[in-house]
Amino acid sequence: MLNATETNWDVIIIGGGPAGSTAATTLAQAGRRVLVLEKAKFPRFHIGESLLPYNRKIFDDLGVWGKVSTAGFTKKRAAQFLMGNGSRGNRLDFSKGAFTEFPEAMQVERAKFDDILLHHSRENGAEVREESQVLEHRVEKDRVVLKYRSADGAEHEVAAPYLIDASGLGNFTANRESQREYYAGHKKIAIFSHFAGVKMPTGEEEGDILIVRREKSWMWMIPLAANKTSVGLVIDAADFKALGITPQEAFDDALRTTPAVGERFPMAEMLEKLHVITDFSYKNDRLVSPRVLRAGDASGFIDPMFSSGVLLAMTSGQQGARAIHQALETGQALTAGMKRYEKDNRKRIAIYWEFIENFYKLHFAQIFFQPYNRWGMVCSINAVLAGCTTLSFSVWWRLRVFFFLAWLNKHFPVAKRIKVG
Ligand SMILES: Cc1cc2nc3c(=O)[nH]c(=O)nc-3n(C[C@H](O)[C@H](O)[C@H](O)COP(=O)(O)OP(=O)(O)OC[C@H]3O[C@@H](n4cnc5c(N)ncnc54)[C@H](O)[C@@H]3O)c2cc1C
Repeated sequence: MLNATETNWDVIIIGGGPAGSTAATTLAQAGRRVLVLEKAKFPRFHIGESLLPYNRKIFDDLGVWGKVSTAGFTKKRAAQFLMGNGSRGNRLDFSKGAFTEFPEAMQVERAKFDDILLHHSRENGAEVREESQVLEHRVEKDRVVLKYRSADGAEHEVAAPYLIDASGLGNFTANRESQREYYAGHKKIAIFSHFAGVKMPTGEEEGDILIVRREKSWMWMIPLAANKTSVGLVIDAADFKALGITPQEAFDDALRTTPAVGERFPMAEMLEKLHVITDFSYKNDRLVSPRVLRAGDASGFIDPMFSSGVLLAMTSGQQGARAIHQALETGQALTAGMKRYEKDNRKRIAIYWEFIENFYKLHFAQIFFQPYNRWGMVCSINAVLAGCTTLSFSVWWRLRVFFFLAWLNKHFPVAKRIKVG
């Protein structure tokens, strides 16, 4: 039986991941009454462990940097992009980009990282209910009503003037409204786990993420702690199906046929079960509608090749929360600020999408793996891959030249014709 509808909040947030906790803290700090409904009990395992330097700005805004910086996470100074056969590599050192404002990031175990952020929301005044799974939502004229189930199996109804959906790949409200749309040609499957005994770079390169490009797929290696490395394979879902093998077999096969990864694995031991996520990379038709705003992965998800997910999630959580804070002033169901949020969010995603789509293409990879810092083009790439999403003109025009050269390379050999894979 449902209890009476609780109406004590200005905003209800579905999901306590980085998008939800960022939105909750931002709103609570602005004096708003916030309820976060999170279906899991934290800390919980989550993938998405390599952060970008520009996350730092949001940590500072939230006042959580002190807690994150002393949690013992691995420092990440650079991203290495390697070819699967080990023949070529490209190291982007964030401290060496002329347009990059923040020199380093972190590799984090998400169980701990997400827990810190969610605790911080609580400490700032948000009410967080874990083990509370949202089952339904209904938008009325002046409020949104949600039904959720708590750990004891009881169902509850809560209502507030606005809802932020930060339910991650669960994509709660958009799925219920059938808004999910996949990017053509980008149905992927990710197979991953944590390992001990992986030989990762040391010395100056300690902490680097390794992104390894194979002919039609890619792998990541993220050093999480002294003897714990996250390793994953992202492969086209159709290619995986055609192989007719299990995820474990596909993963083992990738290790065998990818020297850049396999050579680091002589004594590795799997610490976690092998996880599999399918069908990611989607967009939603709308990110805002009357009284509802979608943030983080619930606003759309792109291939994690450039580790942009958490930054995009936190940025959207922050901007989305600011838009809702303003909306609360007027009570209007759909405001100009909410629409601006949608536009800006799509722009941020598009910046990374252009890199992701092209990274799978040979003519782009040939240029990317033979970097030439003419006119500071590599510095502009450094800034974007460090997480800069408000592009200055200096960065913007250099990127345009870079993508033009990559396009030209399809027709004329701008870069040496190397085998990439
Ligand atoms: C294979 C892979 C590798 C990745 N690697 C990286 C990386 O290296 N770096 C990076 O930055 N990003 C990476 N990402 C992306 C990153 O994981 C996400 O972008 C990020 O977690 C998004 O945060 P979020 O808060 O939007 O969603 P989430 O972190 O998924 O949080 C959503 C929360 O909502 C809760 N929830 C869902 N439905 C409900 C419901 N009905 N009721 C209540 N609660 C609900 C969930 O339990 C969850 O805690 C990767 C993603 C994948 C798939």
